[in-house]
Amino acid sequence: MKWKLRKCEVDGVYTFKDKCPVCGGTTKIPHPPRYSPVDKFVKYRIESKLNRKIDC
Ligand SMILES: [Zn+2]
Repeated sequence: MKWKLRKCEVDGVYTFKDKCPVCGGTTKIPHPPRYSPVDKFVKYRIESKLNRKIDC
């Protein structure tokens, strides 16, 4: 079972429906709160470092 939690753009109410049950506003699937290209780059560096360790 896959839930798609949506968030109201107006008042921030979380719901599974396309429309907010409180204000009737449109809801959207919230993006990951901590996404940044810097974090991705750091993760990539850590992974490459681990691979190098395994190879040695
Ligand atoms: Zn709302």
